[in-house]
Amino acid sequence: MDQAPTSSRRIGIGLACTLALATASMSHGQITLNASFDHGSLLSSTVTNASTATPTINLVGRDNFYGSGRWRWMYFTADGLANKRPTFRVSDNFAGGGSALNTHPMVYSYDGETWSFFDNGSRASGTFSFSNNTAFTGSLVHVAYAIPYSYGRSVAHAQQVIASPHAAPTLSGNASGVIGLSPGGTDDLGRSIAPRSIYAYRITNTNYDHPKKKFVISTGMHAGETIGTWTYQGLVDWLISNDPRAAVVRAVTDFYCYPTMNPDGRFAGFNRSTVNNPNQDPNGLWNPSLWTNRLDIRRNGEAMIADRLQTADPVEGYIDFHSTIPAFPNEDFGFIEYEQGDNLTPWWVRFKERAGTVVDVDSTGTSWTSANFAEAFLGARVDITFETQFGRRRNINYYTNLGADFGKALFDTFRPTDGDTNFDGVVNFPDLLTLARNYARFDGVGWEQGDFDLDGFVGFSDLLGLARNYQGAQAEFQAASAMLGLPSVPEPATAGVLVVAGAILSTRRRR
Ligand SMILES: [Zn+2]
Repeated sequence: MDQAPTSSRRIGIGLACTLALATASMSHGQITLNASFDHGSLLSSTVTNASTATPTINLVGRDNFYGSGRWRWMYFTADGLANKRPTFRVSDNFAGGGSALNTHPMVYSYDGETWSFFDNGSRASGTFSFSNNTAFTGSLVHVAYAIPYSYGRSVAHAQQVIASPHAAPTLSGNASGVIGLSPGGTDDLGRSIAPRSIYAYRITNTNYDHPKKKFVISTGMHAGETIGTWTYQGLVDWLISNDPRAAVVRAVTDFYCYPTMNPDGRFAGFNRSTVNNPNQDPNGLWNPSLWTNRLDIRRNGEAMIADRLQTADPVEGYIDFHSTIPAFPNEDFGFIEYEQGDNLTPWWVRFKERAGTVVDVDSTGTSWTSANFAEAFLGARVDITFETQFGRRRNINYYTNLGADFGKALFDTFRPTDGDTNFDGVVNFPDLLTLARNYARFDGVGWEQGDFDLDGFVGFSDLLGLARNYQGAQAEFQAASAMLGLPSVPEPATAGVLVVAGAILSTRRRR
């Protein structure tokens, strides 16, 4: 840790054999490590036995966990590993305690997209070692503490979301969704980190302006907590998806989303803090009196305060997606306030039921975390710091599915009464008219066309669902059903409104 920071953008160059042989061995035997890219993190490295099939790669992690002299986030590429089975070694001087590495599965990838877990990982004599049982099949291997999520990936994802028909920039953002710039700074390696764009977007179906359940979600504040961001992405991807339940959720909820809470820290390969303020937990600065000179936190916080006022609906929930090293309660968990009964909130309870792997931990802290900010400054009824645990052999799809479970739980909780095609809280003649117009259709129909069981078909079961909840004149309902040639549904028919029913039928025939 006493190695002087280098101003070079290329760090951690592996010393294969000796430098004198480097040129000659470039194509056979030299191993080159690199962490100078978005989200990369490694202080230095040495390699012994580089020309053999079983080299040892000694790693030194960066000291950017509040200046504690310990490493946590690590991410680099190693080139020259084809047909080699290296052992990686790093000090177990780990932020969070060496025991958090006891069985930790480091990850690797050939393309930076598809990740696998190393077969082996163990601690002995102050060193954590990890390796595979078989040789690498490709030359270039990405290696990381956990499945990475770069700042650039967040940017690309935000742009993809905003380009979808279901999302738009927030009031604070420009047409690209940018709500401001981070402060930038100089990192622990002496590198100049330029200011970066901070993004926000809103997901809702703006065709409906009835009261909605409003949510604010965010991720990325703690720079190295990547699987929280994968979980966040899973929720967002589900919200803008073609799942017919998502269409319902978009109609009854209003999401304000902040995916880049700490752009500089994520880009520069930090563990938790921002580059601007490296020795302080940013999750304690969420108050206007504390964030004056912390422009990354401030941009996000001020945007949240302003953006949610686009409609008058109160904020139902705030969820900040984090990750944690192996910790109590040994499962993914929500820090949630028992005192107010937040842990009994139906959408949270349904989410836990769906996920099956999520538990509660009582949140009693009073510092200015983003969650306490959300309660005090956004008026959030429920505020949750959601923690996914590192150290499990769970791949990306586990986390994206976990995020999607949030969305599905919202459907379970907030789905309207069967029959309410237009989400106005009442099942009446306009809903019947909509169902009749779409009766027997199966070409891409959903809830808004009368497919309340979401089986892709507007049929008799949907009509029955509507009938059970029908609050309009029964005469209209029975007449319309008769004219459509539908089987009789309960309630006495009166022949009063044949004109209306005829109109429905003629509408159908014109289709
Ligand atoms: Zn965190």
